Amino acid sequence: MRIGYGWDSHEFKAGIPLRIGGITLPHDKGLGGHSDGDVLLHALTDALLGAIAGPDIGSLFPPSDPQWKGADSAVFLREALKRVAVAGYELVNLDSVLILAAPKIGPHADAIRKRVAELCGIAADCVGIKAKTPEGIGTEGAAIASATVLLRSATSS
Ligand code: MG
Repeated sequence: MRIGYGWDSHEFKAGIPLRIGGITLPHDKGLGGHSDGDVLLHALTDALLGAIAGPDIGSLFPPSDPQWKGADSAVFLREALKRVAVAGYELVNLDSVLILAAPKIGPHADAIRKRVAELCGIAADCVGIKAKTPEGIGTEGAAIASATVLLRSATSS
């Protein structure tokens, strides 16, 4: 068994789509970044890579590389899952926390859970999506995500 942990933050910017967990949420601001800014998929990608002691997301997909400009972050997640499989592991479940002032995640949590489960090839009841508002930490201009994963050996049941 392996565990992995990932963390990420991105700043809100006006006039770009808000991508969280592989879906687009209705909001007047999105998350800036070199890729699509999907803070949850980035944290999850790093959790998977960390569980196999792999290189982190920034090493595999450097922001300086123009091919990742505006990239769908599902590409990063798929690469991490591929590396997990090559290392002989499979994802059991994942849990995550989002910290953002707006929009409210509650109405979208099931859609995010479903999409993340689909991207990861696991059941939706193996995907934890929790959201908090940034009380007293002064991060209203950003979205923060953390993710934890559990892997098991793919050869033992
Ligand atoms: Mg990121």
